[in-house]
Amino acid sequence: MAERPDYYKVLGVGRNATDEEIKKSYRRLARKYHPDRNPGDKQAEERFKEISQAHDVLADPEKRKAYDRGGMFGGLGGSAGFDPSQFSGSFSGGFGDILSNLFGGAGQGTASGASRHRGSGQRPPQARGRDLETEVSLSFDQAVHGTQVSLSVPTSKPCPTCNGSGARPGTSPKVCPVCNGRGVEAQSQGIFSINQPCSNCKGSGTVIEHPCPTCEGSGAQRSVRRLRVNIPAGVRDGSRIKLAGKGEAGVRGVPPGDLYVITRVGESAIFKRHGDNLEVEVPLTIPEAIRGAVIEVPTLNGSKRLRVAPGTKHGTVQRLRGEGPPRLGGKGNGDLRYRFVIDVPASLSREQGEAVDRLARVIDGDPRAKLFPGAGRAKAGER
Ligand SMILES: [Zn+2]
Ligand SMILES: [Zn+2]
Repeated sequence: MAERPDYYKVLGVGRNATDEEIKKSYRRLARKYHPDRNPGDKQAEERFKEISQAHDVLADPEKRKAYDRGGMFGGLGGSAGFDPSQFSGSFSGGFGDILSNLFGGAGQGTASGASRHRGSGQRPPQARGRDLETEVSLSFDQAVHGTQVSLSVPTSKPCPTCNGSGARPGTSPKVCPVCNGRGVEAQSQGIFSINQPCSNCKGSGTVIEHPCPTCEGSGAQRSVRRLRVNIPAGVRDGSRIKLAGKGEAGVRGVPPGDLYVITRVGESAIFKRHGDNLEVEVPLTIPEAIRGAVIEVPTLNGSKRLRVAPGTKHGTVQRLRGEGPPRLGGKGNGDLRYRFVIDVPASLSREQGEAVDRLARVIDGDPRAKLFPGAGRAKAGER
């Protein structure tokens, strides 16, 4: 059997490390060794699993206590109270954490919302594995045209040493002596007797007297799953793609949860999102704006020629209907909008200066007169 790893060493913290220190060190290491940052690096992947496993144990006060007892005295005596069915719950915090931290989210993981099912006094019902959430970064082009990405999703599978039971091979979980396997404890409150989840076995009805040395009684082993995911054309920053059944595997035969992929989309230097549409700022020279022109403008698939009307004003918008990004859900495409801006030269050659002087002489009048309906205002040039 594999030697039990020193989880403190794995996380690079002392035995007296605080929860905060453990968390910090874990995040730093998990970021460093995450498979997405080390594609194809088997060693990094192994390290990542080890780090995750160490964090699972050390971040949970009860598991840490049990581990310390086993780890320091070389035995496993007295670490009763492990309940594999509860561990899916305690994993969730870890996953939510790591996912939101690794991928820069705001900790809004559905994963961290998955909580332990208790309260009815029954065995905790787990209908399916937990949902996972991960983020993927896309370029603007990838988001507009759709793409395929590969993802590494941290997940867990049944521990191979104990086949998921959490008990050391050769032993099996015992019926909880406190509740006799019922998972509930009766507590009298006045004349009522209220059933509560058993405090000894946390409602599972069984206790593990001899935890499996590989998984510390959790029954689960960390692993990393790789997925190729099709990103549909038209996703935006913050779109959520649901991959049914690609979440956490269910414990003991229950169906897996779902995986949600949140898309983070980079910006384009040219196309700016306005709802379903994209807008492009198109500079016009002064003569083009005055005389009109046929100009070339960028589209999502190349370019198009656009007729600019004579006398086009600064800020005028011209639209190509349906040439924008696809709307999600097969509802056609948005528009491409071209906003014309007059390009004013910062400096002029002598010839240009003379031309502008000539222009100034022939285009006169005061376009600002309408701003001052009253009489007696000074001409702008005299101020
Ligand atoms: Zn095990
Ligand atoms: Zn019990």
